[in-house]
Amino acid sequence: MTVQPIRLFGDPVLRTPADPVVDFDAELRKLVADLTDTMREQNGAGLAAPQLGVSLRVFTFDVDDMLGHLVNPALEFPDEEEQDGPEGCLSIPGLYFDTKRRQNVIAKGFSAHGDPMQIVGTGLMARCVQHETDHLDGVLFVDRLDAAGRKEAMKAIRQADWYDQGAPPTVKLSPHPVSNPFGLGR
Ligand SMILES: [Zn+2]
Repeated sequence: MTVQPIRLFGDPVLRTPADPVVDFDAELRKLVADLTDTMREQNGAGLAAPQLGVSLRVFTFDVDDMLGHLVNPALEFPDEEEQDGPEGCLSIPGLYFDTKRRQNVIAKGFSAHGDPMQIVGTGLMARCVQHETDHLDGVLFVDRLDAAGRKEAMKAIRQADWYDQGAPPTVKLSPHPVSNPFGLGR
């Protein structure tokens, strides 16, 4: 079983720019397998490594019967054409907002074995590739909305039943960690 828990909005790992992959080893291929299994179990179109708490530049996709992954992606836009339509995220479950994206994208990167790869994406595939690459830069799709849309999205997130008001990121980033929280040995 390699389905992993997905990190939700508010987790600082989702706001951390991920590191490029250097070692194309068995550990990387295990990460790709975990991403693939978790994405499919959740019926997601894509999943990025930071969503599993791993800050590496890797994502998987499952769009239009095309299942795959890309390591260290770099995006190119062949034209200026845009699309606008509903977008969601497994880290912001149940919420969808119309999000502007480029219609066409060329994503260059590597397979988990280190072989050069290229995805030429249009429509939904292009949207997925842009969304997942954003994750690797610590960017979430709600950041792409205009001011009014972002305000609406933040309100919906704060009201979502999964949003943990009691565990804001500041707790994990506390500069004064409790070194002996249970008072043992005193
Ligand atoms: Zn996402």
